[in-house]
This record gives sequence, structure tokens and C-alpha cells, in this order.
Amino acid sequence: MTIFTKIINREIPADIVYEDDQCLAFRDINPQAPVHVLLIPKTAIVSLDQLSAVDHRDLCAHLMLTVPKVASLLGIGGGYRTVINTGAQAGQTVFHLHIHILGGRDLKWPPG
Ligand code: AMP
Repeated sequence: MTIFTKIINREIPADIVYEDDQCLAFRDINPQAPVHVLLIPKTAIVSLDQLSAVDHRDLCAHLMLTVPKVASLLGIGGGYRTVINTGAQAGQTVFHLHIHILGGRDLKWPPG
């Protein structure tokens, strides 16, 4: 079980900004921008590499459609970045699929 499952189960605290039956969004504990939240499925999927077209098609669509909703709720609609780190080499440290949503400042490209 990862720390994100504990957040879903309310076993550890988090600043939750959005929740529905399939996903949860909460503020990153180590924010890299004025607004930095993580959107996660409630189902514990390790990463993009573990997604199945059979089992997760609707969930993927739901997550993608929830991103702008959360961004808008947080006042950054129209100007934000989404990041999904997949695997340790890409910087993934929590092995429960999550979409970073960052905004509230000018963001540079390319990322490191
Ligand atoms: P990643 O490096 O893509 O796996 O992202 C994991 C993110 O989870 C990092 O940005 C961490 O700051 C964040 N994080 C780790 N533990 C917590 C926590 N308890 N509450 C909120 N964010 C967390």
C-alpha cells in the first residue's frame, strides 16, 4: 500500500481539493508552483505502464476530463501544466498513478 492509498482511506491527512467516486485531488506536500495538486484514481494503479485498455478506459477518460475541472476550481484554468512521472528514472517516487497539476506562475520549457 502506498501513502496515497492511506490518503484515500483518510488514514493520514491531506489538503483535499476535489473528490468524486473515482478520483481524489489534494495539494502536493512539497509544492513546485503556487498551485500544485495531485490527481489520483481511487483504484491503486502503479503507473501508466499498468493501465489496461480493457479495465481502465473509462477511468482514464474520467481522469483526463477531471484535470480542467480541478484546475478551474483552483483558479488556474487556461494556464497550467500536467505531469505524469512514470518509473524511477523519470522521477516517480510514489507508485500510485498520479497527475501533477501545476500553475500559478510562468512555467518554463523544457522540464529537467
Ligand atoms: P512523483 O515524484 O511524480 O512520484 O510525485 C510524488 C509527489 O507526491 C511528490 O511531488 C511529493 O511531494 C508528493 N507527496 C508525497 N507524499 C505526500 C503526501 N503525504 N501528501 C501530499 N503529497 C505528497
